[in-house]
Amino acid sequence: MRKTTLCIFCSIIQGDAPGVLVYTDNEFVALMDKYPVNYGHTLLVPKLHYNDLLSMPIDLIGRMYCMAANLAKAIVLSVKADGFNLGQNNGRAANQIVPHVHVHIIPRYNYDSPNGNWPSRKVASLVELARIAESISKSIAEPLSSGYLQ
Ligand SMILES: [Zn+2]
Repeated sequence: MRKTTLCIFCSIIQGDAPGVLVYTDNEFVALMDKYPVNYGHTLLVPKLHYNDLLSMPIDLIGRMYCMAANLAKAIVLSVKADGFNLGQNNGRAANQIVPHVHVHIIPRYNYDSPNGNWPSRKVASLVELARIAESISKSIAEPLSSGYLQ
């Protein structure tokens, strides 16, 4: 019998909760944010549970950000974005909602924030998310020559 956990990301990683996966390897999963700022908003999550960035091994942080850049390229291509934000919140004071470290990769458009505020989050259907995830997944480059995705 599986160990139950209260962490939603650990539950998704263990297959105990639904999530729309974009990418997975030995160390990380990438999944669609259920409430995207823009379509294509993806979360990159280490498979092992770390509460925040400062509790992660430094080499794993390095690989996570290499993967974030690789994913960002695929996301921008897939949803034809004009740019993207990388976001990483640590602690309640910084608006970290899920206490399992994750990087937000948020595609942006030239005119998506006329008032300078973040675009409001959308509620996306699982079908929409799965369609975008498939497109992003196909756009992810093969592991770079440095082999950092191993
Ligand atoms: Zn967790």
